Amino acid sequence: MSAEIIDGRAIANDILDELRVRVTDRRDRGKSVPKLVAVVVGEDPASRTYVRNKSQSASDVGMDSDVIVVPESTNNSNLKDILQDLNNRSDVHGIILQLPIPSHLDEVAAISTICLEKDVDGLTDASLGRLTRGDPVHSPATPAGIIEILKRSKISTVGSHVVIVGRSMLVGRPLSIMLSQRGSGLNAIVTLVHTGAHSLGDFTRVADILIVATGQVNTITADLVSTGATVIDVGTNWISDSTRKSGRRLVGDVDFNGVQTVASAVTPVPGGVGPMTVAMLLSNTLSAAVMLDGE
Ligand code: NDP
Repeated sequence: MSAEIIDGRAIANDILDELRVRVTDRRDRGKSVPKLVAVVVGEDPASRTYVRNKSQSASDVGMDSDVIVVPESTNNSNLKDILQDLNNRSDVHGIILQLPIPSHLDEVAAISTICLEKDVDGLTDASLGRLTRGDPVHSPATPAGIIEILKRSKISTVGSHVVIVGRSMLVGRPLSIMLSQRGSGLNAIVTLVHTGAHSLGDFTRVADILIVATGQVNTITADLVSTGATVIDVGTNWISDSTRKSGRRLVGDVDFNGVQTVASAVTPVPGGVGPMTVAMLLSNTLSAAVMLDGE
């Protein structure tokens, strides 16, 4: 078997095209143009790159965007004030705090300063509470992107056994909650696996859909996948590669070449879940503008 490669970039581009049409329409009707503001603390180059990419994608669909860089030396109270100020600004619809933030700061408290309507990452306590109740305001972007990739690839989760490897608050845990809920394109039977599993393969081999978010290269090899399963690779890991000019290359958590021989469909890294995360973040930003300023 040679798996279908799910083109996350193409699916994300379709979503971005749809967003561009809706943003242009708002502009033409004199409605507010959605604005996304990213707050980044410190000089971490990876964080700065992620934030720059999100801003660029926002501009590409006609949204406004801004980046606020806060010095690494900031304290909890100052960071909270910055986020609170953004909550109060009527021209700002979506706020993201780029993670991780320096360890001397209280990450959970900082995130939860962002008000529900503007929490386009869907990670505050209030957002996660609403998500758990099955009444989300904004769903976390990466889990939402994974569900959208499955929907648009016509891979049904309804009644399927979905096994998620990784239980982080960013990916695995909210995804398990979302997929197990009633609703079109959801209603899955979900197993959430983590390092507590004595034998990972006992769980992964019984998956119809296997979603991997461990941050560990080659967590999933072909022998851990059942024939015909769908495999979604969330991981982003840099490994050294002397054939590349940069000396490194991006890979996922899945042994792509091996798994391709047993799975029916698989997402690549790069070009799978990554572009979907940005598309869903912008989709949430548009929803926020509609929620705050009307359709
Ligand atoms: P975390 O490190 O927060 O969580 C990893 C999870 O995987 C933990 O629950 C851990 O278990 C589990 N785990 C690790 N190794 C194993 C193993 N061998 N067997 C079973 N479980 C294991 O990572 P994130 O969820 O934040 O991110 C995961 C990956 O996804 C990273 O590579 C990250 O860069 C990527 N990512 C990509 C995004 C995108 O847009 N493409 C967005 C977000 C993340 P335990 O809890 O027991 O320690």
